[in-house]
Amino acid sequence: PHDTPAHKRILIKLSGEALMGDDAFGINQAVIGRIVGEIAEVARMGVQVAVVIGGGNIFRGMAGGAVGMDRATADYMGMLATVMNALALADAMNKTGLTARVMSAISIDQVVEPYVRPKALQYLEEGKAVVFAAGTGNPFFTTDTAAALRGAEIGAELVLKATKVDGVYSADPRKDAQATRYARLSFDEAMTKNLGIMDATAFALCRDQKLPIKVFSIFKPGALKAVVMGADEGTLVHV
Ligand code: UDP
Repeated sequence: PHDTPAHKRILIKLSGEALMGDDAFGINQAVIGRIVGEIAEVARMGVQVAVVIGGGNIFRGMAGGAVGMDRATADYMGMLATVMNALALADAMNKTGLTARVMSAISIDQVVEPYVRPKALQYLEEGKAVVFAAGTGNPFFTTDTAAALRGAEIGAELVLKATKVDGVYSADPRKDAQATRYARLSFDEAMTKNLGIMDATAFALCRDQKLPIKVFSIFKPGALKAVVMGADEGTLVHV
């Protein structure tokens, strides 16, 4: 661990489900408040923070209400769901004093500004949090892939994959008391062990770009800060 942040610019991938807490659906403000508190803390330390937000708490192109629909149409609905989450997240950020900007991969200009890479970089340099909405803007992709893509585009040093568990384990820690957390894994090991950390497209992109992934728990107080400080927290997937 260092006494200053180990990273200057990070990209956090938050799933839509992270925003619903124990609810069955939608957005839970108390949960968003806690997540934003963790993010604001690292931003105050001078770390530039970008977030890619999912949409699974509202709509997914392959499940639930989408069954039987044309896949591309359903995926556009999923992307719109991420825009709603992005608005809620940025609203909560702005309330904590962390200035946030939402940028969308599909144009809905009256609602959010479009994603323009140099502008995103400018916001980050200014210390604003940037929330990337609408995934990659393309059907048949996921917000995990958007996280890898935007992470590479903005030159993030690390993609932080927020999960409910505090890292990648040898077995399900809720079912197996012998399960141990991997502190580090190479991309090759993670693929051989079929650990399913991110989907294959996202994983391949991070690997090609030599962009490390840290799996950590967004629900464990202080875990995000620990990761940013370079502590042995979560699981690092590296080249
Ligand atoms: N989606 C898409 N292209 C993208 C990102 C997302 O079509 O680049 C759609 C897709 O239907 C997906 C939904 O948006 O199911 C919500 O995203 P995701 O499942 O990645 O959200 P998460 O699981 O992270 O909440």
